[in-house]
Amino acid sequence: MRCLSCHECFFSLPSWESVLLLREEEPLCPMCAEQLVTLGGEGCCSTCSRHMNIQYQKDGVCLDCWRWEQQEYTKGMLAINRSLYEYNAFLKEWLAVYKFRGDAIVASYFAKQLSVMYRHFFQGDLVIPVPLSEKRLRARGFNQASLLMEGWAEDYDVLARVEGEKQSKKNRKQRISQVADQPFRLNEHGIELVRGRSIVLVDDIYTTGTTVRQVARLLREVGARKVSSMTVAR
Ligand SMILES: [Zn+2]
Ligand SMILES: [Zn+2]
Repeated sequence: MRCLSCHECFFSLPSWESVLLLREEEPLCPMCAEQLVTLGGEGCCSTCSRHMNIQYQKDGVCLDCWRWEQQEYTKGMLAINRSLYEYNAFLKEWLAVYKFRGDAIVASYFAKQLSVMYRHFFQGDLVIPVPLSEKRLRARGFNQASLLMEGWAEDYDVLARVEGEKQSKKNRKQRISQVADQPFRLNEHGIELVRGRSIVLVDDIYTTGTTVRQVARLLREVGARKVSSMTVAR
């Protein structure tokens, strides 16, 4: 087989499990598979699912999540975030290539895992992908978040993002105040759709948590009951 990430050939004997249960073979070589660090469960933040260092936690959540809850504009906006893997150097590089090329096989590899996560944590929730701005969408040609929903959720295309500065250039304080100046817009159909519903946002990466909280705030303001998020990386 050829590895989905490094594209090197590797030898894979079909396991009994894959034969009996018709499960697909792991498409990553052992070296790449080893570098994917799964999140969630014991020792992870109950809000955002990252691994927590013992010194950086408070009330069972990581300090980042704790701080978000101290701010008037972001308090209670996001219920939980669940991510598949730790955003380490390996995944950072792999996702950068994926975002650049829009590799459909890579998208479907993660989409399958997200669909399992959806059934486990968010069954019944309305799924909304975090959109790119018009300009970035044109430059890239696809929205990586929408691709991650292929095969398991419908994209109603109700949310838009207006052009803004890049998150990473801002410091923490600026990012918190940024949730107040809303870069997202919901169309008429979207307002109808989200009212009274539980929503789960889909994105490739949860970095600072600013983006999902901006969307969450918008959705809660128009009557969404609860907003969570689900990403490939945290
Ligand atoms: Zn590999
Ligand atoms: Zn957290």
